[in-house]
Amino acid sequence: MHTDVVILGAGASGLCCTIACAGRGRDTLVIDHGPKAARKVLAAGGGRANCTNTDIRAADYRCANPHFVKSALARFSPTDFLDWIHAGGVATVEEPGGKVFCRDGAPSLTRFLSAEALRAGARIQLGTKVREAHKDGDVFIIDTDAGPIRAASLVLALGGRSWPGLGATDCGYALARGFGLSVTELRPGLTPLLAGADMTPLCRELAGVSLPVHLAGPCDVTGELLFTHKGVSGPAVLDASLFWREGDTLTIDWLPGRDPEAILADAGRQEIKNALAGCLPKRLATALCHHLGATGPAAGLSPKARRRLATALSAFPFTPARAEGYAKAEVTLGGVAVNRISSKTLAAGDVPGLYVIGELLDVTGRLGGFNLHWAWASGFAAGGDI
Ligand SMILES: Cc1cc2nc3c(=O)[nH]c(=O)nc-3n(C[C@H](O)[C@H](O)[C@H](O)COP(=O)(O)OP(=O)(O)OC[C@H]3O[C@@H](n4cnc5c(N)ncnc54)[C@H](O)[C@@H]3O)c2cc1C
Repeated sequence: MHTDVVILGAGASGLCCTIACAGRGRDTLVIDHGPKAARKVLAAGGGRANCTNTDIRAADYRCANPHFVKSALARFSPTDFLDWIHAGGVATVEEPGGKVFCRDGAPSLTRFLSAEALRAGARIQLGTKVREAHKDGDVFIIDTDAGPIRAASLVLALGGRSWPGLGATDCGYALARGFGLSVTELRPGLTPLLAGADMTPLCRELAGVSLPVHLAGPCDVTGELLFTHKGVSGPAVLDASLFWREGDTLTIDWLPGRDPEAILADAGRQEIKNALAGCLPKRLATALCHHLGATGPAAGLSPKARRRLATALSAFPFTPARAEGYAKAEVTLGGVAVNRISSKTLAAGDVPGLYVIGELLDVTGRLGGFNLHWAWASGFAAGGDI
């Protein structure tokens, strides 16, 4: 089989690239080993796909080159994306933090994307595993379990390592290396953090409790923290996991924006745990007081003891034992190094006709629709060039 463009991976980035390429008249084939296209989009946002964010900046992404994402993002903004899918009948709702979800669920979006690709004249070949790819003269030869395919241009849209249950493999990294591109250190990102033996009993006791916190140390994040049986999760923790490395200590401010010393000073003869229960979930107030050895009435604290307790509440040290891992990580940190990729077209400089897009690259967004938006934007940038 010979075609103008082969896109490996029918995920978010691959489908957008397919639509842009085929829409410009290129004979385009997109291949995926899954039984369905865009399985991660279907699972995203708890099945509602947090598909973009109304306020996207380069600073929302981690990449060895912090300027790399700017060009593609500038040429495919959240408004461009939303205008496009709304015109195609996909309804959305915006939630706090600029997060945009599919009102009628993620399938409304994946159906639209597949239909757009077919309408543009592309072929979508599912259930086909990619094994290897190389270039022979001007032609790419892709080895699949359905036979070899020859193409003038090749797009690697094979995603990251996270959630193998949704089709993730290491194939994209291996193919990129085969074409002489380097891959930066890979780590699970947007993942829960697991407690060590010291904190597991506290986390287990508080499983299910969630509250807004500020997390500092390797990160600077404000948002919701959720206790689990094994450690901590929730949006703030997932964002913190993008910065956390084994051995790092997070400091948790349980009362962000409030002055715990003043709260304790104003509490008079109230029990400390009851005073704190006025501004924290009751189970947490009780468990923290037990953990910190704070008993008796607040008025019984000396000024020094009050200050020490206030510090423990606003800079509570927590050293996770490890991150949950790829099985539960929404993204993979690191990826194909961007130093030899054009930020404008996503072309791999040294290999004419080769493009790398989406999460496979060393580009990771924070929680809130940023990763899917990068997939759309990078897919369109490459598709507009091929
Ligand atoms: C559970 C979960 C929830 C998420 N929620 C959100 C969210 O709400 N908002 C957000 O912005 N981001 C979210 N993300 C992240 C987001 O889904 C990804 O960053 C995005 O899908 C990446 O798009 P991609 O096209 O680069 O890769 P992918 O979507 O991973 O696509 C890669 C494709 O390549 C295929 N493939 C892999 N290996 C082979 C092979 N050897 N042969 C053939 N095909 C192969 C895979 O089947 C897959 O379809 C979530 C991720 C997960 C796992």
